[in-house]
Amino acid sequence: MSTFAQQIAAAAPTPHDIVSRRWIYIPYDRFTDRTGPLTEQPAAQTGIVIVESTAKALRRPYHKKKLVLLIANMRHFALEQAARGVSVLYHFSPLSHGQALVALQRDRNLPTLTVTTPAERELRLDLQQAVADGLRLNQIPDPTWLSTTEDFTTVFGPYQPGKSYVMDRFYRRMRQHTGILMHSGQPVGGQFSYDVQNRSPYKNQVPIPSPPTFPPDAITQEVIDYVAEHYPHHFGSITGFDLPTTQADCDRAWQFGLDQLLPHFGPYEDAMRDDHLQLFHPKVSPLINLGRLLPITLIQDVEAAYHSGRIPLPSAEGFIRQILGWREFMRHLHQQTDGYRLVPVAQENSAENTPASTTKKPASVHPQTTPPPDPYAGATPSFLNASLPLPAVYWGAKSGLHCIDTVVEQVLHDGWSHHITRLMVLSNLATLCGFSPRQLTDWFWVAYIDAYDWVVETNVLGMSTYADGGLTATKPYVSGAAYINKMSNYCGHCRFDPKQSTGPNSCPFTALYWTFLERNQPLLGNNFRLQMPYTTLRKKSPADLVQLRTRADQAIAALQAASQPEYHQLNLPTR
Ligand SMILES: Cc1cc2nc3c(=O)[nH]c(=O)nc-3n(C[C@H](O)[C@H](O)[C@H](O)COP(=O)(O)OP(=O)(O)OC[C@H]3O[C@@H](n4cnc5c(N)ncnc54)[C@H](O)[C@@H]3O)c2cc1C
Ligand code: SF4
Repeated sequence: MSTFAQQIAAAAPTPHDIVSRRWIYIPYDRFTDRTGPLTEQPAAQTGIVIVESTAKALRRPYHKKKLVLLIANMRHFALEQAARGVSVLYHFSPLSHGQALVALQRDRNLPTLTVTTPAERELRLDLQQAVADGLRLNQIPDPTWLSTTEDFTTVFGPYQPGKSYVMDRFYRRMRQHTGILMHSGQPVGGQFSYDVQNRSPYKNQVPIPSPPTFPPDAITQEVIDYVAEHYPHHFGSITGFDLPTTQADCDRAWQFGLDQLLPHFGPYEDAMRDDHLQLFHPKVSPLINLGRLLPITLIQDVEAAYHSGRIPLPSAEGFIRQILGWREFMRHLHQQTDGYRLVPVAQENSAENTPASTTKKPASVHPQTTPPPDPYAGATPSFLNASLPLPAVYWGAKSGLHCIDTVVEQVLHDGWSHHITRLMVLSNLATLCGFSPRQLTDWFWVAYIDAYDWVVETNVLGMSTYADGGLTATKPYVSGAAYINKMSNYCGHCRFDPKQSTGPNSCPFTALYWTFLERNQPLLGNNFRLQMPYTTLRKKSPADLVQLRTRADQAIAALQAASQPEYHQLNLPTR
C-alpha cells in the first residue's frame, strides 16, 4: 500500500460519518477550504469525496507534469482536510468522475452530495449524465469566481453570433462594480488601463530573482513515479518536477511572486528571452486554476502592495486586469458560446486553405446550428479557413526557427510559458501558416499545465487564432519578425535574418505575415485595425509579392516536412 493510501485510509468515513456529516464532492480543480461549502460548517461535521479518475487522465496525452501537479495537489489537499478533522472518501476509479460518483453513492449509501458548479464544461456534462443516471447532487454557485453571468450580460446582453465582445468594457464594469483600484468612482491614477506602458523588451535592466524551489516530498514522489510508470506515452518531460503541491507551498510561490516579481511585472510583461522562461511573470495560473490560490486574495494583495508603494500602478493594474478582466471574461465567453459551439464557423475547404492560394473567394460564414454528435468533441470554428495539419515542430521536432524551437523546448520541459510566447510565437506561426485552430487548441490543452477547456479554448480559438471571426479579439494577433526581434533576444541567436523578408536566409515570419494579409484580404481587408498594414501591402510591387509568396510557401513546406515524434497523435476524447 502506498504512503498516501495508508495515510488517507485513517480519514475514511465510518457509517456514522456517512449519515451525520454534510458531504461535498470536490472537483479536480477546486482544492480550497478558504471559501465555498467547506467553510460553511465545522470540519467535524464535514465529509468530502474526491475521485482520482484514470479515465480523465487518459482522455488526452496531457503533459506528465500536469498530471503530477494535479494528482499531487489532489492527494495533499485530501491529507490537509483529514488533518483538520474532515472525513475523506478518496476514491481511485477507472471511470469518469460522474460515473464513479454514481457507483460510490449507491455502494456507500452516501447522502446527496454538494458541489460547486464545475468550471470545466467537460465536468458539467459528465455530472449532468451522472444525475440522469441517478446521482443525487446539489449544485451551488462557485464563489471562487469574481463575477456572475449577469455581470457579463449586463455589459453585452445575451450572446449573439457575430457580435464582438470587447474585454475592456467588461473590465471597466468589474472595476466599478467591485471598487478595485477605484477612488470616488474614478480609476486610481486616472486611467483604467496602463497597457501602453507595459511593452518594454528586457535587457537586464533589473536582475531577475531566482524562484523558490519545491522539492517533491514522499507523497509527491509517489505521484511522479506513478505517472512515469502509467503514462509514459504522454507529452513532455517529468524530469525535475518542482511545482508546489501543498497549500503552504502554493502560498509561498505566490508570496515570492508578489514580493519579488510583480514590482517589475508591468514594463516587461510582453518581453521574451531564450535564457529566461518566466521573467517577471508569477506563474500562478496553474495554481489559480486548481483553486489553490484565490483570485480575490491575489487581487487584494496586489492592491494593498500598490497602496503601500511596493508595486507601481502600471504593474499592479496590469496584473489585476489579467485576473479581474481577462480570466473572468474568457470564462463567460466559454459558457455563453457553449465552448464555441455556438460561434459562426467558416466553411471548411482544404483545397482553398493552401496559403499560396491568394485569389480564393471569401469564405461563407454560417452559424453552427447542428451540434456535433459527440457532445465532448471540440468546436471547430475556423473563420480564416485555416485547416493545414499542425506540424511536428509543436511536438518537439526542430524547425530551425529559434523562437519556435526555444519555446517548444521550454513547454516540453515545463508545461508552461508566459502569455506573449503563447500568443506571438506559437499561435502567431500557426495563424500565419493557416494551421488548424482546433489542432492548435488541442495541442495547447495537452501541453500546458494550466489548460482547462474554458480557458484554453477561448484563448486559442478566440484570442490567438481569430478562428471565432472577431468575437474575442478585434483583430488577429499576428506579426512579422520585427515584433519578435524587438521584444526578445531570440533573433540574435537564430540562423535567419529578421531584417530580410525574402531569400533563403530571411526570417520566414515576415513573408508569412504579408502573405497572410494578402490571402485573407477578402475577410480582413475592411478591419479598421489593419488599415496600416493593408496600405503597406498595397504598395508592394507584383515582383515583391511573388518573392514573398515563394518564401512563405517554402517555409510552410519545410515546417510540414519534419517527422512526428511518437507521441504526436492526439488521443482525442472518448468517453
Ligand atoms: C494561446 C494562449 C493559450 C492560453 N492558454 C491558457 C490556459 O490554458 N490556461 C490559462 O490559465 N491561461 C491561458 N492563457 C492565458 C495566459 O497566457 C496565462 O494565464 C498566463 O501566461 C499565465 O502566467 P501567469 O500566471 O504568470 O500570468 P500573468 O500574466 O501574471 O497573469 C495573471 C493571471 O491572469 C490570468 N490571465 C492572464 N491572461 C489571461 C487570459 N488571456 N485568459 C485567462 N486568464 C488570463 C491567469 O490566471 C494568470 O495567472 C493562454 C493565452 C494564450 C495566448
Ligand atoms: S529571425 Fe525569425 S525565426 Fe529567427 S528567432 Fe527571429 S523571428 Fe524567430
